[in-house]
Amino acid sequence: MSGEPEESVVFKGMPAQPAPNAVSDDQKIKMGICPVCDNKLAYQEGCKLCYACGWGGCTT
Ligand SMILES: [Zn+2]
Repeated sequence: MSGEPEESVVFKGMPAQPAPNAVSDDQKIKMGICPVCDNKLAYQEGCKLCYACGWGGCTT
């Protein structure tokens, strides 16, 4: 044990915020990054494709 008092503060009314470096899959896709392997996505007729792992997503 570290000996430090563990404070459990609950912020009422505030939504749980993800860690700054934790980007959601949806966010990655919007940024043009593959959610699976973090490679750059290629755009093809409204769809996003990852040539690295084969991931594909269409917005329509
Ligand atoms: Zn990929």
